[in-house]
Amino acid sequence: MRIALIAHDKKKPEMIELAIKYKDILAKHELYATGTTGTLVMGETGLKINRLKSGPLGGDQQIGSMIADSQLDLVIFLRDPLTAQPHEPDVSALLRLCDVTNIPLATNITSSDIMIKALENGEIECRKIKK
Ligand code: PGA
Repeated sequence: MRIALIAHDKKKPEMIELAIKYKDILAKHELYATGTTGTLVMGETGLKINRLKSGPLGGDQQIGSMIADSQLDLVIFLRDPLTAQPHEPDVSALLRLCDVTNIPLATNITSSDIMIKALENGEIECRKIKK
């Protein structure tokens, strides 16, 4: 499974906690992340992560492009609903593409917990690349 991890700044500690908690499960999958999230999670867990650009510098758009090309199977995006983001249009576009392609998307810790458990139970489907 190809999984994307993204966390806004105030949510990065929660993302690290999540990655530590589920390290063994996540380690079995192909992981992608926006730049800063990826660096922090790799540093704290040792997980191998394919890092894209930082979110505000185009990383969210890169993830969006992967979603559009069916190159991701699950997105965990711990977004901060209480802080204005300079790249809000990119954030909205990414979330929209998840809905367009019906890809599983978790945007808070509780839904991430459920999603990772579903992943471990084999309940999340691997996407076929379609053009
Ligand atoms: P970052 O990007 O992981 O590079 O901080 C996340 C975001 O703000 O979309």
